[in-house]
Amino acid sequence: MEKYRVLIIDDEEDFVETIVKRLRDRGLDAEGALSGPEGLQILENKDFDVIILDVKMPKMSGIETLREIKKKKPLVEVIMLTGHGSVESGIQGLQLGAFNYVMKPVPLDELLKQMNQAYERKLIEEERNH
Ligand SMILES: [Mg+2]
Repeated sequence: MEKYRVLIIDDEEDFVETIVKRLRDRGLDAEGALSGPEGLQILENKDFDVIILDVKMPKMSGIETLREIKKKKPLVEVIMLTGHGSVESGIQGLQLGAFNYVMKPVPLDELLKQMNQAYERKLIEEERNH
């Protein structure tokens, strides 16, 4: 797998730690953030290819975070993490330019499949924008 850059933004610390470790084990350049503002701060200093974004977070929701991400980095591909009660936010995310949404808990292989597809799309979009 190509070593692309992934940012995980989720307020569940254990989830972020685990997923970052597992993605790094698979050879990806993965980082984690525990809130929308923290994720946006990281984006100020580093470019990412794919962002995994929780919709349900205190202070700044995933949808608000997505709007800011797309303003700053329109080409980054975002996969929203929804729960049973937040599928509508996932759909709203698609309307705001997210690549896709997946329902928690998502098996790692399924998430990786989505991430790889998102990365492929980013490469195509970058080519088109050249
Ligand atoms: Mg959450």
